[in-house]
Amino acid sequence: MDPKTVAQALYQIGGPDITDPRDCAVYLLDLGELVLIDAGAGPSYDKIVHNIEDIGLNPAKLTSIILTHCHIDHIGGAPQFRDAFGCRIIMHQIDAKPVEEGNEGQTAASWYNLAFPPMPVDVKLQREEERLRFGDQEIVCLHTPGHTPGSISVYLDRGGKRILFGQDIHGPFSEEFGSDLAAWRRSMERLLALEGDIICEGHFGVFQPKENVAAYIEHYLEQYRGRG
Ligand SMILES: [Zn+2]
Ligand SMILES: [Zn+2]
Repeated sequence: MDPKTVAQALYQIGGPDITDPRDCAVYLLDLGELVLIDAGAGPSYDKIVHNIEDIGLNPAKLTSIILTHCHIDHIGGAPQFRDAFGCRIIMHQIDAKPVEEGNEGQTAASWYNLAFPPMPVDVKLQREEERLRFGDQEIVCLHTPGHTPGSISVYLDRGGKRILFGQDIHGPFSEEFGSDLAAWRRSMERLLALEGDIICEGHFGVFQPKENVAAYIEHYLEQYRGRG
């Protein structure tokens, strides 16, 4: 399948049905400079670059990759982007550790039978909430632990809509990942309170409008009620 326009200046350029079955959903923001939200599993790197060109954008304008957490289906392509375009890697400091160490278990590289060499993380987020600026656009990164200890959710207000990037808020949850269901529930309540109009999810695509965003998050809260 081809890349899809999600909203003004926002595209889905990678994902299981677009680039490689192992890929998470990869989103691209065109803010004058280009910003990627997650990078896919790695083998699809060339296809993702091609998709950026396919929508008429220049991959050389890629300045930043925001990684929502440390799993290989989200980070695997990041070293290639960093090497090719010099873009900075932004993620939470807790999940940055296994990425910088190339930890095969915590990055889930061994699950996917893919290699992940250690990669430097350029910007390590440390606070509950951090605001990044790209031109006149502010992007907010929220620490939303649960799936992994250093998972973040990202949101921005654009074109009158609030757009959330939830990625793996659906789980799965495992000891090896350092998952924490109690922390996850608190994170999900924070996301619900944002009242997003669009949620860009990590494996299941894009949900909108507002009531479908809330229903999506509440569906998982219900599924894991009373567990952990
Ligand atoms: Zn994950
Ligand atoms: Zn994932």
